[in-house]
Amino acid sequence: MFGDCHMHMVLDGVYYKDAIAAHRGHVRDDLIRQRLTAYAGAGIRYLRDGGDAFGVALRARELAPEYGIEYRAPLCPMCLKGRYGAFIGRAFETLEDYRAMVAEARQAGADFIKVMISGLVDFDHFGVITSEPLTAQQIRELITIAHGEGFSVMAHANGAQTVLAAVEAGVDSVEHGAYLDREAVDALAQSGAVWVPTLVTIGNLIGCGRYPDDVLTRILDIQLENVALCAKLGGSVALGSDNGAYQVPHAKGTLDEYALLKRALGPRTDDILRAGEKAIRERFVWGGRQP
Ligand SMILES: [Zn+2]
Repeated sequence: MFGDCHMHMVLDGVYYKDAIAAHRGHVRDDLIRQRLTAYAGAGIRYLRDGGDAFGVALRARELAPEYGIEYRAPLCPMCLKGRYGAFIGRAFETLEDYRAMVAEARQAGADFIKVMISGLVDFDHFGVITSEPLTAQQIRELITIAHGEGFSVMAHANGAQTVLAAVEAGVDSVEHGAYLDREAVDALAQSGAVWVPTLVTIGNLIGCGRYPDDVLTRILDIQLENVALCAKLGGSVALGSDNGAYQVPHAKGTLDEYALLKRALGPRTDDILRAGEKAIRERFVWGGRQP
């Protein structure tokens, strides 16, 4: 089985507030071990955690070798104060704050930097992304600073303009990437960035009753089409489930994501995902970024 290039050990696939609260005060090794056991049982040997501010991803990285799993983690997701991401990450107000966090990530032995540069897809309303995105200039500054410290950058990014700005600034991986237009897909395909489209975060909501299925289906169809187009244009795509997100249980989400990627990529699926995972594995470790 492929590795999972985007998951969150801290979350449980059910309710993020309870999942995070379970680790407050002290990180629960028993929960981490249960989840690592599930991954190992499914034959998943590589995990790239999207991170959390509670030390869970970094602790999981320590335990993972016991399960035969190579594990990569950032210090925590970093977001601009007042924008999306503070529930799981840490907010910076100024670039100086951000620089200090990047230095702290280096001290903590983080493998890469994770930034949140847009909001989430609003699954109730087609075409809507929650929260204002960062500007192209802000995005460029965040990526440049992290690269300057030897880190690759994993960016949570939805929306064509946001993804285009990240790709033009040399981002290393684009997470989610909902609502891309042709220009953004072209740019992504021509760049060295790997796209991790996390299809299952949309697909597993269909039929759950929380959101309108017609909206979910439209969003998923666009995402499947764009993934197919990106791969056709020679772009790099990797398997990442966002496991731990609502309705996306650990390990099972990885298998569900693989099934959805197959719908988009067809007979070339395994070749494409193998190359995408290789690029992620090589790059998402401190100093692993190719100039
Ligand atoms: Zn995530």
